[in-house]
Amino acid sequence: MDIERENHKLEKRLCREVGRAIVDFNMIEEGDRVMVCVSGGKDSYGLLDILLKLQQRAPVNFELIAVNLDQKQPGFPEHVLPEYLGKLGVKFHIENQDTYSIVKRVIPEGKTLCSLCSRLRRGILYRVAGELGATKIALGHHRDDILQTLLLNMFFGGKLKGMPPKLVSDDGRNVVIRPLAYVPEKDLARWAEVRQFPIIPCTLCGSQENLQRKQVGNLLREWDAKFPGRVENMFNALQNVVPSHLLDRSLFPFETLRATGEASEDGDKAFDEEPCAPPAAAGADGNPGWVRPVIPITAGD
Ligand code: SF4
Repeated sequence: MDIERENHKLEKRLCREVGRAIVDFNMIEEGDRVMVCVSGGKDSYGLLDILLKLQQRAPVNFELIAVNLDQKQPGFPEHVLPEYLGKLGVKFHIENQDTYSIVKRVIPEGKTLCSLCSRLRRGILYRVAGELGATKIALGHHRDDILQTLLLNMFFGGKLKGMPPKLVSDDGRNVVIRPLAYVPEKDLARWAEVRQFPIIPCTLCGSQENLQRKQVGNLLREWDAKFPGRVENMFNALQNVVPSHLLDRSLFPFETLRATGEASEDGDKAFDEEPCAPPAAAGADGNPGWVRPVIPITAGD
């Protein structure tokens, strides 16, 4: 297939997936003023680009305002975003706030700056949203960010918790949306190449990226390459939660659970064996080929 057709398919896929997330979570409504946070990274460029395309054909009217926070990292090319956004013809606002100096002053030398940096950034963006009269704040997190967060929360936070596609901000005043929630990172990386976005790296401040997140990201990429479908299945699992088969007592009333006396097709088959190998062809003795060895279960197992 030639490159142009591939790119066209990619564009259609991106629009479809973003549109699907917007509808599924009712992210954008009639009359919304959506503040799109643009950092200069591939994901937020992609988000703005696709939202602009969808705006042309959406069944509801909404406004888009791109906002960049210039945090005054040394070497930040401050002309790049105003030039790009100006050419696009989208409304935009550049907020100048020297969080870089604050972070450098507060965090000891050699420690990662990102957590304080992003906390400060968040507070400023919430304030700007209020000043601009934005009704929604759109962020460029994608499917793989959500899965990375899920794994990090399991590994280090002891929580089954990902990253919501729509939420009320911690100050209670803003609705934050993530229209790229269904989009795989590799599609955004490819789209950034196709569209030749003028990427600005986030690491200008000299901080190391969060190492754990990087490792988990590599793990997901490795799985995606070795076991096609696994990452998609993990993501689907987030949309098919079965509280009765987890252990959170606040989600399911285990304490009051009683036999109903009625059989259910969807009921749990608690004593069924899990197939541990694909069924082989039936043997001459009629054995259907379930090759699982029988392991006696004894007390104490
Ligand atoms: S890399 Fe630098 S600019 Fe980016 S989040 Fe971390 S501290 Fe902030």
